Amino acid sequence: MQHRLIWFRDDLRLSDHAAWAAATQDATNAKLSAVFLTADADWAEFGYGANRLWFTEQLLRHLSQTLAAQGVQLQVIRLQTYQAQTDWITQFCRTEAVTDLYFNQEYQVNERRRDLAVMNGLGADTQVHSFVDRVILQPGEVKTGDDRFYGVFSPFKRRWLSTLQNATYAPYRPQFTERAPVAALDWAPLADRPDSDLSHLALTEQDAQERLDVFIDQRLLDYAHARNNPAIAGTSRLSPYLARGLLSPRQCIARAEKKLDRPIWDFPDQAFSWINELIWRDFYHHLLVGFPRLSKNRAFQPHTEAMIWRNDPDEIKAWKNGQTGIPIVDAGMRELIQSGWMHNRVRMIVAQFLTKNLLVDWRVGERYFMRYLVDSDLGANNGGWQWSASTGTDAAPYFRVFNPVSQSETHDADGLYLARWIPELQALPPKKRHAPWTTTPPAGYPPPIVDLKATRARAIAAFKELPK
Ligand SMILES: Cc1cc2nc3c(=O)[nH]c(=O)nc-3n(C[C@H](O)[C@H](O)[C@H](O)COP(=O)(O)OP(=O)(O)OC[C@H]3O[C@@H](n4cnc5c(N)ncnc54)[C@H](O)[C@@H]3O)c2cc1C
Repeated sequence: MQHRLIWFRDDLRLSDHAAWAAATQDATNAKLSAVFLTADADWAEFGYGANRLWFTEQLLRHLSQTLAAQGVQLQVIRLQTYQAQTDWITQFCRTEAVTDLYFNQEYQVNERRRDLAVMNGLGADTQVHSFVDRVILQPGEVKTGDDRFYGVFSPFKRRWLSTLQNATYAPYRPQFTERAPVAALDWAPLADRPDSDLSHLALTEQDAQERLDVFIDQRLLDYAHARNNPAIAGTSRLSPYLARGLLSPRQCIARAEKKLDRPIWDFPDQAFSWINELIWRDFYHHLLVGFPRLSKNRAFQPHTEAMIWRNDPDEIKAWKNGQTGIPIVDAGMRELIQSGWMHNRVRMIVAQFLTKNLLVDWRVGERYFMRYLVDSDLGANNGGWQWSASTGTDAAPYFRVFNPVSQSETHDADGLYLARWIPELQALPPKKRHAPWTTTPPAGYPPPIVDLKATRARAIAAFKELPK
């Protein structure tokens, strides 16, 4: 009898799940097992925080119940390392006579090495079926004419779109015939509690799907216009679900195409600008494969490794705690700490402030984001940090340093975002919230820790001196 093992990872859903769809096809006479393996020590080393682990834990509980009701038991096995995962899978396949192993591909260096080790370690009795699921187009499928990975977004996007026009990217529809329900198994929780208030999150596939529906129906066509205002829900806020795999990018595209009744390459600009972000998401995953040094804390542009960062401990502390005295920076950092999420425009502002005005190594910020973000994802996080620090692909030119005050005035004109996250500023007239030091400073809110103009000049000078 066939014994099929489905190995779940950051893909905690059943709809449009490539590995699940394949494993459950024509499975009437097959035994089905499902597993999720942790790597607690390795994950701690990568900086995964309690928010991400708690969120994953909730999704696993739900998945386990759903699977059990359909007759499949999910084992959640607590392990320390990826090596232990490899050992566990090879051992299980041998002792349980697994004939077929199914999983969706992951693209960070450690995960790819692990999967390779698993494939090499399994005997001929177990066939491995791995799938492209986390991204829309497989890394390696979108390359330059001379077979190199793209290191710049715009040509990548053009090639990505032309490749997609000849590809199948419709969501998978599982043909699973449910079995008699089984008891759900238990496990020691990945995290007892989150660091932030995560009550805003959807915890079920259905809820995440509904949020996708609401965004597409009500906000997609206004996206380009509303996306930069952090005071409103102008973006989809679906990143936690895409990162942990409660939603797939295929589902996002399919839902948008259904709404507009045309393929994405015929979308009007307003709506395409949302698709553009999903292409960035693919791009960053492709980069992880094309440039493995990105998974190893290395800069995309090697010459920037020569930068001597200041890394002042007191300034880092003020940044982390939302106490820099620059309201838009502090509001963003407080949003991060209190909710485990931050608006994209503000992520760019706080990242530029840390790496440029404070001249702090981007890896400090990357790791702090990793600790708090529920959507933490190596590709996007590393890409965002290196872009902001002018060390990455398409990096912001070093001489174009954001002015956080004018960013704040432009994108949060009424100071509503500032007032939401910094209660100390609520009593100020909205226009005064962006730079409270220009008026009588409000009680309890610190003065700016740095002079924006002088530190901007210092950053430009430091970058200019880097050997090319
Ligand atoms: C310094 C920094 C760190 C970041 N860290 C992460 C991270 O750890 N995880 C993460 O998912 N995103 C990260 N981003 C990208 C971006 O900020 C978030 O994806 C976005 O804010 C999520 O909000 P949304 O779901 O409303 O996005 P929308 O604007 O609705 O975009 C739709 C989806 O596209 C993807 N996306 C959007 N922008 C980007 C981008 N610039 N790069 C890659 N994918 C993108 C996300 O999956 C998002 O859910 C980071 C950006 C910066 C500047």
